[in-house]
Amino acid sequence: MPPQNSYIGRFAPSPTGPLHLGSLFTALASFLQARKHQGQWLLRIDDLDTPRLATGATEKIITTLDAYGLHWDGEITYESQWLAHYQNAIERLTQQDLIYPCTCSRKQLKRDRLENPSIKTYPGFCRYHRQSPLSPHSLRIKTPDQSITIDDLLHGQHQQNIHHDIGDFIIKRRDHIFSYQLAVVVSDHRQKITEIVRGIDLLDSTPRQVFLQQRLGFVTPHYQHIPIIVDAHGTKLSKQAFSTPVHTHNISQTLYYLLTQLQQNPPQELSSAPLNELLDWAITSWDIKSLEKITAISL
Ligand SMILES: [Zn+2]
Repeated sequence: MPPQNSYIGRFAPSPTGPLHLGSLFTALASFLQARKHQGQWLLRIDDLDTPRLATGATEKIITTLDAYGLHWDGEITYESQWLAHYQNAIERLTQQDLIYPCTCSRKQLKRDRLENPSIKTYPGFCRYHRQSPLSPHSLRIKTPDQSITIDDLLHGQHQQNIHHDIGDFIIKRRDHIFSYQLAVVVSDHRQKITEIVRGIDLLDSTPRQVFLQQRLGFVTPHYQHIPIIVDAHGTKLSKQAFSTPVHTHNISQTLYYLLTQLQQNPPQELSSAPLNELLDWAITSWDIKSLEKITAISL
């Protein structure tokens, strides 16, 4: 852990719908971890994937966080305002000869995989047969055939050979949208984020982000991947799974419930306490280590 006052954490939801219980669970954990360390907690709206954005979702997310007392520090930032910075990162990677245009369509790649089931990742066709950058293309990054190890503070070491397990991945889509992998790395760097608390479903993409950080000369933050909330069938609660949005009545009860799910054992007498009292208790008693090695929590 760094000195306490240098802690900068963040919550970076994508406004593809209102917050559901699973995202509030993550927001609460990252908020409590920052406050416990007298750190800053920033709110960044990941609004790059424009075809998936839902009208009014940003406002709903902001209202919900506010209603639950999860107050962020400083101004809210929007990734859509940082396009020049993502482009600049691509240019720096291009100078290192790491980027190439890929004209393969998703349909074509799917057909290849059906014909040859041993192909699990992008086979690198355009890496070895240079395509004209004039035809519609995505941009891929050349991945090194070497293993990258990350040290997760809750799960220990996690190793991945991204070339073998993922393949050359897309950093700018064919529809000109910057990929999540690139944007998250550039945004975290711009905001000097030191601690990332997020769902374990993103653990697998962390080595790709560390690889980009290394190539761009950025410092790698500390990672703590917390469990995801799953329903009775073991499916992650998500907007895609049409999970119901969190309501803004019964706020204290929902918060008490989430603290229980976060393994914090809130005392029974706080179950009807006002929001502020409950949050104060939660910040003081917060112990993220209770989530060590846990990957899923079912509702
Ligand atoms: Zn290709």
